[in-house]
Amino acid sequence: MLGLMMAEPLRVATIIEHAAKWHADTEIVSRLPEGGIHRYTYADANHRSKQLAQALLKLGVENGDRVGTLAWNTHRHFELYYGVAGIGAVCHTINPRLFPEQLVYIINHAEDRLLFFDLTFLPLVERLAAVCPTVEKWVLMAGPEHLPAASEMPGLCSYEDLLAAESGDYEWPSFDENTACSLCYTSGTTDQPKGVLYSHRSTLLHAFGISLPDALGCSALDVIMPVVPMFHVNAWGLPYAAPLNGSKLVLPGAGMDSASLFELMESEGVTFSAGVPTIWLALLQFMREGQRHFTTLKRTVVGGASCPPALMKAFEDELGVTVLHAWGMTETSPLGTGARLKAKHADLSPADSLAIRSKQGRAVFGIDMKIVGDDGHALPHDGVAFGDLLVRGPWVVRDYFRAHTPGELTADGWFRTGDVATIDPDGYMQITDRSKDVIKSGGEWISSIDLENLAVAHPAVAEAAVIGVPSAKWSERPLLIVVRRIGMELSAEEMLNFFRGRVAKFCEPDAVEFVDSLPHTATGKLLKTQLRKDFAGYSVA
Ligand code: ADP
Repeated sequence: MLGLMMAEPLRVATIIEHAAKWHADTEIVSRLPEGGIHRYTYADANHRSKQLAQALLKLGVENGDRVGTLAWNTHRHFELYYGVAGIGAVCHTINPRLFPEQLVYIINHAEDRLLFFDLTFLPLVERLAAVCPTVEKWVLMAGPEHLPAASEMPGLCSYEDLLAAESGDYEWPSFDENTACSLCYTSGTTDQPKGVLYSHRSTLLHAFGISLPDALGCSALDVIMPVVPMFHVNAWGLPYAAPLNGSKLVLPGAGMDSASLFELMESEGVTFSAGVPTIWLALLQFMREGQRHFTTLKRTVVGGASCPPALMKAFEDELGVTVLHAWGMTETSPLGTGARLKAKHADLSPADSLAIRSKQGRAVFGIDMKIVGDDGHALPHDGVAFGDLLVRGPWVVRDYFRAHTPGELTADGWFRTGDVATIDPDGYMQITDRSKDVIKSGGEWISSIDLENLAVAHPAVAEAAVIGVPSAKWSERPLLIVVRRIGMELSAEEMLNFFRGRVAKFCEPDAVEFVDSLPHTATGKLLKTQLRKDFAGYSVA
């Protein structure tokens, strides 16, 4: 027997429609790549998203067509999220920090028909246009005054001109909730980038999921600034969760440096932010240098790479900002777990509580997970046994977009994350490594993440990476690569001594090398493939 409730398909446009109706005067504030601050409301955003929808329809964009974006976090990018998905087309956010060859590969693989880009990327798209034949029209996300005098890009026009020609008098259509709404390629640090095609249903369920108080937690009292880019897994879903909850949204544009972020956080009263550890490590240094304090920021979500406990502690003790450590992937929309405490942890000491909150955390409702050994059998949740992390749920990828190879699912339908993890008896998952980064020393596995976390707890260390290097005796041993904090002295001996007694003897790094900076991926994570190349041939005694 079927239930007798209304079968309203879950659709992305219903979020902006809801915000426009019930949070009409709540603001979206953007720092524009072409300069200046833009400020308007959810009611305005819905109206302009509808104008965009009308313009797309006039250009012949059809259900399922891909519309690419090369853009920062701004109100126009926000309108593309809703305008494109709202008519049943697919908003394909592209990471402009990728290498040009990867960008060409991705645009051609997705067969984007239109491509919207910020002024910052004009020189880049001028080079891309000639080698991306499926793109019929390139749209500059600015007013016509910013268009170049001459250009060979097909159909080049300005975003504001496109919108100005439309009335915004438009009803969002209804369609199957399994219709695709957005597309995001993994950054391809190991292979060719792979496309994850989200549906309206998965996006809405994820937006509900991340809004929960033990997940990211969003409310109409919040002023949310996603520092994670809108081209990186839909800014972790915040451009959906903010209007769903009626939170004010602050979009930092191209200004991802600490000074610009801090200035905007203070001027707009940001209460809640989110981003990868690299951003917060830099911001912490900036805050310390100027002895600055946040007046409104209360909490931040750190994820995308392991959050060092030292970073968490510094934000909480020195700056009064609570850090939520979260784990996820492009393939999981992205939120999988978040490390909030349970009631039973109320009386824990600060150190014991930090130990739990430093883990990647508990599964949010909507995600199921398990760890398995090499034979595929589930391992115990004892916080000690580690194995491949598998997940499943309504916002986990089933297959990659136009993939030439089969997906990463097990025969019984679990997604292989490529991460190695433990799960403790309370359900807190802890990533020990990506499977390809694990260091295998004489039959024992050494977690590079543990060693990196410990290294950055040293006051003279700004950033650290650990890779395995060949060893005749042990097959692999850990090499620590360190960036010193500006103006600080640190010898190799002092660094290595710092590990004594803090980790098991066999885990201590065998050597340390100092560098000026570490390579990062386009999404701000340590690029270990590059480090392995840079230190190829390195051997430890
Ligand atoms: P890619 O880096 O391949 O582009 P994602 O951005 O989807 O892809 O990254 C997902 C991966 O990032 C995870 O599989 C995991 O290895 C790592 N990751 C994400 N969050 C965390 C975290 N909190 N701690 C450790 N690793 C994390």
